[in-house]
Amino acid sequence: MCIFCDIIDRKIPSSVVYEDENVLAILDISQVTKGHTLVMPKKHFRNIIEADEETVLQCVSTAKKLAAQIVKNTGAAGVNVLTNCGEAAGQSVDHLHFHIIPRYDENDAIVLKFNESEKQDLDEVLKLVKG
Ligand code: 5GP
Ligand code: ZN
Repeated sequence: MCIFCDIIDRKIPSSVVYEDENVLAILDISQVTKGHTLVMPKKHFRNIIEADEETVLQCVSTAKKLAAQIVKNTGAAGVNVLTNCGEAAGQSVDHLHFHIIPRYDENDAIVLKFNESEKQDLDEVLKLVKG
């Protein structure tokens, strides 16, 4: 059972911001900031890594357009567009989705902060990530 598939199938109601053949965008129920929107593919994939490229591109393209529309219409000062992949990254619904979070100021309800962390040898890290 997937709650977003149920929303796509209209088994669960939602506030639809945008819809086409492949993609659905709805208001996030939590509204962490006013206008917080989720963009998801109609086809079920668990996350960005497992989804096929075409599906990801359809979602990102929609997210780009909606981010511009939402910033314009809400008067937000900025926007975060992000996807969480895996529980460790904060994913709570295992159906690929992109958050569009309009930002009003630094003291609104969301904090995305890069904390100081241990210094890394970039050559070693580069080797690691390139495999
Ligand atoms: P995640 O934590 O997986 O990146 O984000 C899941 C998001 O889905 C959360 O922000 C949460 O508020 C939202 N959400 C969970 N259940 C529902 C629902 O039934 N309806 C809507 N509109 N949003 C939901
Ligand atoms: Zn699903």
